[in-house]
Amino acid sequence: MSVIGFIGLGTMGAPMARNLLKAGHELRVFDVTADACVALAAEGATAAGTAVEAAQGADFVITMLPNDAIVSRVMLGNDGLIERLSARPLLIDCSTISPDTSRRIARAAAEKGLRTIDAPVSGGPRGAADGTLSFMVGGAGEDFAQAEPVLKNMGRMIVHAGDSGAGQVAKLCNNMTVAVVMAATAEALALGISQGLDPETLSGIMAGSTAGSFVLDRWNPWPGVMPEAPASHDYAGGFQLGLMLKDLNLAVANARDAGASVPFGALAQSMYMLQARRGQDAPRADFSSIQKLFTRPA
Ligand code: NAD
Repeated sequence: MSVIGFIGLGTMGAPMARNLLKAGHELRVFDVTADACVALAAEGATAAGTAVEAAQGADFVITMLPNDAIVSRVMLGNDGLIERLSARPLLIDCSTISPDTSRRIARAAAEKGLRTIDAPVSGGPRGAADGTLSFMVGGAGEDFAQAEPVLKNMGRMIVHAGDSGAGQVAKLCNNMTVAVVMAATAEALALGISQGLDPETLSGIMAGSTAGSFVLDRWNPWPGVMPEAPASHDYAGGFQLGLMLKDLNLAVANARDAGASVPFGALAQSMYMLQARRGQDAPRADFSSIQKLFTRPA
């Protein structure tokens, strides 16, 4: 069993940390929200006062933070982990951030003799709680091999995608595709239903035909078709539209940096932005609420 520093105990980080505790690892946790540390400490973790304190002396340091700016602040600079750590843990960043930032952090770490991998996840809060996340990993092969047993305590599919940043690229490709497929499915459902087709019948036809997808199998955006789907619960739960928009913004920026053309991704970015601006709660609703762009107001 290993000593693990875990930084960022939010929607995803807290249940991931809990699974590491259950697997028997010694955990030192830090979050700027003290209550998050208190909850994990009650379950056997040691609450640290700073990120450096959580990470110092650990075998692995896992970060699960909101965005590029915060990950950079925690890792880089005079007070960052890379400058302050005297021991040499493997740094595993599970946050979704830009591939460029991941690569910059990996280079800064390497200059100090530290190893890093980017390991963003798919599977949402339920996957984090059940320990069934998918991890897409960028970094050196031997660092992937060292991290894999730890990641297995939190996930089901652990894939080495390539060098530093490749995990982030894979994550952005995945989420850009899901965003586009969700929007396209919502558009088609609205077209058929506007002409009198029954939502369940149309969904069934498409799911069993060539339009079949994860969206029609598990995440139907039309209310009432799937009792379990967020659409049937006023788009509550699920994966927030605001987080999907964050991933689309990263994907489009990454395409620009890579000189690649992503017309569907860019269109999806604009559409999700439009929906996000339609009301105070819109960014927090599940991303399948993009359906509302295609339906007439009641
Ligand atoms: P969250 O906002 O719920 O949690 C982030 C946590 O980081 C918070 O508890 C916050 O207090 C803490 N934090 C912020 N600044 C900090 C700092 N400087 N030091 C220590 N802790 C700090 O976010 P989340 O939903 O858990 O997402 C985390 C990451 O995972 C994001 O990059 C997100 O894009 C990605 N992600 C989220 C989901 C999801 O469904 N929520 C799914 C896949 C990937």
